[in-house]
Amino acid sequence: MAIPFTSLALSEPIQSALQERDYTTPSPIQEQTIPLVLKGDDVMGCAQTGTGKTAAFALPILERLREGGGPRRGPRALVVAPTRELATQLQGEFERLGEFTRVRSTKVFGGVPQGAQVRALKSRPEVLVACPGRLLDLVDQGAVHLGDVEVLVLDEADHMFDMGFLPSLRRILGHLPARRQNLLFSATMPKELRRLADDVLVQPVVLELNHSKPAETIEHVLYRCAPTLRLELLEDILDDDDFRSAIVFLRTKHRARRVAKQLDARGHRAIALQGNMTQGQRVRAMEGF
Ligand code: AMP
Repeated sequence: MAIPFTSLALSEPIQSALQERDYTTPSPIQEQTIPLVLKGDDVMGCAQTGTGKTAAFALPILERLREGGGPRRGPRALVVAPTRELATQLQGEFERLGEFTRVRSTKVFGGVPQGAQVRALKSRPEVLVACPGRLLDLVDQGAVHLGDVEVLVLDEADHMFDMGFLPSLRRILGHLPARRQNLLFSATMPKELRRLADDVLVQPVVLELNHSKPAETIEHVLYRCAPTLRLELLEDILDDDDFRSAIVFLRTKHRARRVAKQLDARGHRAIALQGNMTQGQRVRAMEGF
């Protein structure tokens, strides 16, 4: 039987935030990760988004940082994530779960002016959630000091690898103190990433939690079809079913744009969301959706 959050060694302010959010039972990754992180172990978690992995690391980190540390120039926890969307999501979870603690967080990522981010860093939040490129820019400018980091989290490490962030990650590592706790989360573990993990993690506990399954309400169907007929099939599906809205995933930015255009031309209100868009365009696309 699943244990309740109250049986984990999390203090009252954190338990209150969990109650506020209606989190009663830890997910499997939370149940396994939280005690290890509280103990100070390095952890490598093979887990996808949707498994509750954010709270799995955010809760014990908040617990650790709850008691103020000594004087410092920079963040005590650094969470590195591949995209601004993920960074925003992660920082939101730190804010919500840390609501009743004094732990503060901020986020930095590219594609937006850096002024507000630099100002937020000046108030020395305990937690910094960052995308690699902007973080390195700010480190190079002396706007953020990484010498006080006690806990490092690399989230969606496989996506960071796919996006070519490995050299940036290695540079970031060079700015961190040698003695620290390291947590790495990734849905897959390609060879090059394993090498990085070997360099970063010290005697990690490896948690394999890849048996995530879709929500009960989600039905999976596979259609075999010639590539030239894909659009017709998609239209058929969209026409047949009583869709209020649908998300279509494509392999490339170019295809996303093309299919959105084609659907739009055929009377389906469609919009593409892809990496080449500015943050404003992305927000408008999501709001329209
Ligand atoms: P994540 O995998 O961290 O992106 O989390 C997936 C979703 O599950 C998020 O919307 C969380 O707010 C939610 N969540 C995480 N942990 C729990 C929990 N123990 N109980 C209920 N919901 C949760």
